This record gives sequence, structure tokens and C-alpha cells, in this order.
Amino acid sequence: MQKLEQLYEGKAKKVYATGDPNLVIVDYKDDATAFNGAKKGTIAGKGVINNQMSNRLMAKLEKAGIPTHFVQELSERETVVKKVSIVPLEVIIRNISAGSFAKRYGVEEGIVFDAPTIEFSYKCDELGDPLLNTYHALALKLATPEEIETIKKYAFAVNNFLKDFWSSCGVTLVDFKLEFGRLADGTIVLADEISPDTCRLWDSKTREKLDKDRFRRDLGGVEDAYAEVMRRMTEAL
Ligand code: ADP
Ligand code: UDP
Repeated sequence: MQKLEQLYEGKAKKVYATGDPNLVIVDYKDDATAFNGAKKGTIAGKGVINNQMSNRLMAKLEKAGIPTHFVQELSERETVVKKVSIVPLEVIIRNISAGSFAKRYGVEEGIVFDAPTIEFSYKCDELGDPLLNTYHALALKLATPEEIETIKKYAFAVNNFLKDFWSSCGVTLVDFKLEFGRLADGTIVLADEISPDTCRLWDSKTREKLDKDRFRRDLGGVEDAYAEVMRRMTEAL
């Protein structure tokens, strides 16, 4: 499959047209950003890891009955995916307090919740991805009530699946962000990526951070952390 014109360049990936109007190619970069683009850097090898990890996980989710955009890995950094119109919601599931949750509610990181939480942000860089609830999403016509129900159902199902999978790798799934999109016929599918850029992953024994927080917080060892989660995942597959 041939890459045609570039449709979009985001912070972490480029998206290209293909000869098929229903398919696009995503190309993963090593560029890293945090705090809505205020912090910029490079994580060597990240694009390869995020591409491969996201594809392995989406293939597993698809088998478990959750529809995804994944079609075919083309190369280390490039993948053919179903073209979607992205629902402009960042869907965040949390199992343990961390990041903006800990900050917003004034609690420490590491509180294990009795049940996972879900929250939505309006995917809009200019506004800094503001938090919203489902009533706001409906008022803004970002999705229909049926779409929101489907997205919630899939998001919790992804959590159940990924929590167990990462646990089998000695990794604790703290929280993560998902994006969903609509195919041409309106079907909702899981899109974008699942990677250490979009998940908080802690070593189950030591609680060492194995994700983008090492970059956000200047903890060092960023490349090693990405490589370590990829290694553990590959061993478990
Ligand atoms: P950002 O736009 O936040 O900087 P990326 O650098 O990851 O993010 O760019 C990838 C873009 O492609 C994102 O805007 C994402 O919503 C979009 N995208 C992800 N999957 C698909 C898909 N299957 N079809 C069309 N667009 C997609
Ligand atoms: N996240 C993401 N993209 C975003 C915002 C958050 O992938 O634009 C992920 C982040 O990596 C973490 C989870 O969503 O795994 C929850 O992030 P949080 O709300 O705590 O925000 P942050 O600490 O990134 O400000």
C-alpha cells in the first residue's frame, strides 16, 4: 500500500492518504510533547515502540470483541488503519490516582480505586482540552447519546482487558486515554494509539514509572522505560 499526500501532522504522528478512501497510513514519530505542547523533546525509538505496541494491543482487543481501526502494520513506524472521523473527546479511564486527578482533587498518587473512573475532555488544543461531562458533550453535539453509551462500554471493556494483560507482564495499568472514531457508515471504533505516551504504566513490584511521566517530570531513563515495557509485552505475547 502506497503513502499518498500527507493529510495531517500531529504532535506524535503523521497521517497519510492511500489509494483507498477508507484507509489511511499513520507514521509514528519520536517527537514528544507534554503540557499541551509547552514541553517538547525527542524520545529515541519511541515511534517504533508505540507503533508496534499499539498494533499488538489493538489486534488483541479486536479478538476480544472491541472494534478498532487497526488493519495492517507496514513497517516499524507505519501502519494502515481504517480512516475515521475522530469523535473530539479524550476518554480517560483511571484505576489509581495520578496526574491531573491527584492535582485537581488534592490527593496523593497511588490510591487504588474500588472501581475505575471515566472522564471526558474536549479534544481541542486551542482550549487546552477542557474537561467536560456527557451533558456538555451532548450540548456541544460532539457525539450522540448512543455514541456516548457505546464509547463508555468499549472504554471500560478496554480497561478490563488491558489491566489483566499488563498485570500478566508485571505492569500495573494506572490510567490511560482513548480516542474513538466513526467509520463512513457511522460505526464507532477505537482509534489513535495505546502506548506509554497515552497510558500510565507502573512496575507492579517497585511502582517505578514506565511511561511518558519520565519525560513529563524529567525523571531520566525515558528510552529505557519504553524499551522495558515493550520487552515485557513481547515476552508475554
Ligand atoms: P495530536 O493531533 O493530538 O497532535 P497525533 O500526533 O497522535 O496527535 O496525531 C494523530 C492524529 O490522527 C490525531 O489527531 C488523531 O485523533 C488522528 N487519528 C487517529 N486515528 C485515526 C484514524 N483511524 N483516522 C483518522 N484520524 C486518526
Ligand atoms: N493523556 C493522553 N493525552 C492527553 C492527556 C492525557 O494520552 O492529552 C493520558 C495520560 O498519559 C495519562 C491519562 O491520559 O495516562 C490521564 O492523564 P491526566 O489527566 O492525569 O493528565 P496529565 O497528567 O497528562 O496532565
